[in-house]
Amino acid sequence: MATARTTNPNTAWYHQLHWRIAVAMLLGIAAGLVGGEPLAGAVGWLGQLFIRLLRMIIVPLVVTSIVTGVASVAAGAGLRRLFSKTFGYYLLTSAFACTIGLVLVNVIRPGVGADLAGAETQALPDLAVSTSPIDLILDIVPPNVVAAAAEGSMLSVIFFAIVLGITISMLQPRHREPLVTLFEAGFEAMMRLTRGIIDYVAPIGVFGLIVNLVGTTGLGAFEALGWYALMLFCGLSLHLLVVLPLLLYLVGGINPIVHFRNMVEPLVMAFSTSSSGATLPVTMNAVENKVGVSNRVTSFVLPMGATVNMDGTALYECAGVLFIAQVLGATLGLEQQILVVFAALLASIGAAAVPSAGLVVIFIVLEAVNLTGPQVELIVGAMLAVDRPLDMARTAVNVFSDSCGAAIIARSEGETGVDVPAPAPSPAAG
Ligand code: ASP
Repeated sequence: MATARTTNPNTAWYHQLHWRIAVAMLLGIAAGLVGGEPLAGAVGWLGQLFIRLLRMIIVPLVVTSIVTGVASVAAGAGLRRLFSKTFGYYLLTSAFACTIGLVLVNVIRPGVGADLAGAETQALPDLAVSTSPIDLILDIVPPNVVAAAAEGSMLSVIFFAIVLGITISMLQPRHREPLVTLFEAGFEAMMRLTRGIIDYVAPIGVFGLIVNLVGTTGLGAFEALGWYALMLFCGLSLHLLVVLPLLLYLVGGINPIVHFRNMVEPLVMAFSTSSSGATLPVTMNAVENKVGVSNRVTSFVLPMGATVNMDGTALYECAGVLFIAQVLGATLGLEQQILVVFAALLASIGAAAVPSAGLVVIFIVLEAVNLTGPQVELIVGAMLAVDRPLDMARTAVNVFSDSCGAAIIARSEGETGVDVPAPAPSPAAG
């Protein structure tokens, strides 16, 4: 499993990324208010540069992330059942999360009428439609995977990466191991590059994007962003506090309160690092030693889950893309919304377990419904302004879903010591 660099608590505050982004945002607001449209025109390219860099890394980052996550699990005969259960759980919970995102955006409609840099007045791109589920499947299977990567057809690339990862996991060790090492090394390199872009370019990019936003729209933009953030918090809380506990209880016969109690440490860690990857050792420790899941299940479900199973990210992708469509005044029909759910599922599988990864892969979902162009990039830039707290929340959801999966699957494998409530103190002991 790849390592993820996180903020050292002893680092001076001005070296910490979230503070630098916050300062860049405040400076951007002030400069945008003072400089107006002329300044927006002059520094807007900084934001574009940042967005281009993010898009540049999508293909190699997603491919290496998926292949590493899936292939490093050696699928021996005895593990095949575990594999299907685990994948079934990942897909089911991520689909629930997407549905919550979808319903909330359609009900609350935080983007309708929002004025984000005059986006609503722009001509709409032609939204992609897939005529039938068969077309959707045919669209996803690439006739030429290199061409798919070159054209940025990310759903096809993700499909290929999953299939390749599964195939590698089935090879003999002497072939499997060098391939896994190769992809792991590639993944490490891409993570370094991602961190470099986020650490060094994000503050400048955010500055450019916010000057552009405030210079052309004024502060009104932040009202819509506030609603958007609030809606996402509600959705993530619903998944964390209702859907996953219900699954624990109904499918695993587990008391959710006991599970929450056992998972406090990883949840706090996920929230403060915004990285499921960095939290993984803490998660594994808690799930094995406190929740009481066997090492066999823990080492299978959690490392792969950290990369592949991201419910919070899936919810965010879905809700974020529909929010952007609303801001643009575009109506996405049922078919297109289903396409968004599907793309969000795949994008969440492709997202690396590091801070801001969800923001990088949102372009995959946007492209799936053909929402592209400078206005879309501008809105994504504006969303970046509120991304850090949302990233903290979605990472906590991602980690919690992995631990619930491990507990439920362990129970289904006949393990009885999972989330056993502490015995009540005996009267004699008092
Ligand atoms: N930061 C998240 C995680 O590590 C991924 C994301 O940005 O959504 O789980």
